[in-house]
Amino acid sequence: MKRALTDLAVFGGPAAFLRPLLVGMPTVGDRARFLARLEWALDNEWLTNGGPLATELEGRIADITGVRYCVATCNATAALQLVLRASGVTGQVIMPSLTFAATPHSASWIGLEPVFCDVDPVTGCLDPARVAELITPATGAIVGVHLWGRAAPVTELEKLAAEHGVKLFFDAAHAFGCTSGDRPIGGFGNAEVFSFHATKTVMSFEGGAVTTDDGELAEQLVALRSFGIDRNKSVTAVGMNAKMSECSAAMGLTSLDAFGETRERNRENHALYRSELSGVPGIEVLPFDESERNNHQYVILLTDHAVTGLHRDRLQTLLQAEKVFPQLYFSPPCHLMPAYRTDPPLRLEHTERLSERVLALPTGPSVSFEDIRRVSSIIRLAAERGEQIDAMWAGAVPA
Ligand SMILES: *Cc1c(COP(=O)(O)O)cnc(C)c1O
Repeated sequence: MKRALTDLAVFGGPAAFLRPLLVGMPTVGDRARFLARLEWALDNEWLTNGGPLATELEGRIADITGVRYCVATCNATAALQLVLRASGVTGQVIMPSLTFAATPHSASWIGLEPVFCDVDPVTGCLDPARVAELITPATGAIVGVHLWGRAAPVTELEKLAAEHGVKLFFDAAHAFGCTSGDRPIGGFGNAEVFSFHATKTVMSFEGGAVTTDDGELAEQLVALRSFGIDRNKSVTAVGMNAKMSECSAAMGLTSLDAFGETRERNRENHALYRSELSGVPGIEVLPFDESERNNHQYVILLTDHAVTGLHRDRLQTLLQAEKVFPQLYFSPPCHLMPAYRTDPPLRLEHTERLSERVLALPTGPSVSFEDIRRVSSIIRLAAERGEQIDAMWAGAVPA
């Protein structure tokens, strides 16, 4: 007999009255301020094409990240494409597989070949030794990802890129406001790319930005994001349309105003999850490196099936039944997605191991401490009774 998961009633009554808790709940900031900016843009009758709000946002991001140039875009995926295209990258692009599909898509979409590389088993970021093994004459670039806001090994990767004469970029979608060795993320490699998608810690509905110290690259990016129109109004390159609108910039500025508070709340949320779930065998809330600044945007839970007896996917389903919606950041890894899977499949040991264990938990200013205690108690109970739940499941849900 097939039963609904909620019928298992492990954690008590119906969850229908609960507010859903999601990962990446929007960090709007002061709504009145956003609306005032929007009114201003409408009054000003300048809605896109490098307007004053987008320009202000670019200036503030360049300041925060300590770079000379910031080019705002309609999203990070387009920004990554622009950066690869503007830099004249050809051939293969070495990147982690433990990332969002946008990272390889941005290379594939412009005719480059993503080459997936294994990660460090602890940090989840590119392992420079594995990168070195994959560099060939066909390599055009390396794209590192600052996974969960923890910096990729920037120094080692910069050294490798310089040695082999290949470009180095970072997908910094997770890492706005984070540092590596006291230097802000945004200034490493040839350029870095941020996302201001609605789920990110600073958000502009949709949006992204490239940060770089390379003036020539910045100028090319400005042209390419606007149909290849250069500063003399001549179409000198095959560009696309990847501009940031003033509406997005108004949201981005307002969300950025609130970033300090957002970060502080997320830091407290993370600390509470850590303490609530400490000492539970087979469950770890990934700590942050106290010597670095982080945005604390992602609370990453790593589960160990062998210890809890409860598969990660079942824990996720249990949480969903309680209206808690964790995210699988990132599972499956890109090299096992139908779009990239090869036959036989590539094996990336550390990537696959992390990918099977990961669960990103709800956080953000709108997630209360009470919410976190509730989510934690579900996880604690589930982990402690893992085998029992697994056995019930086997009876309840036919394979
Ligand atoms: C969100 C995200 C992106 C894509 O950003 P968009 O602005 O939505 O295009 C790329 N890479 C990573 C790691 C992300 O988390």
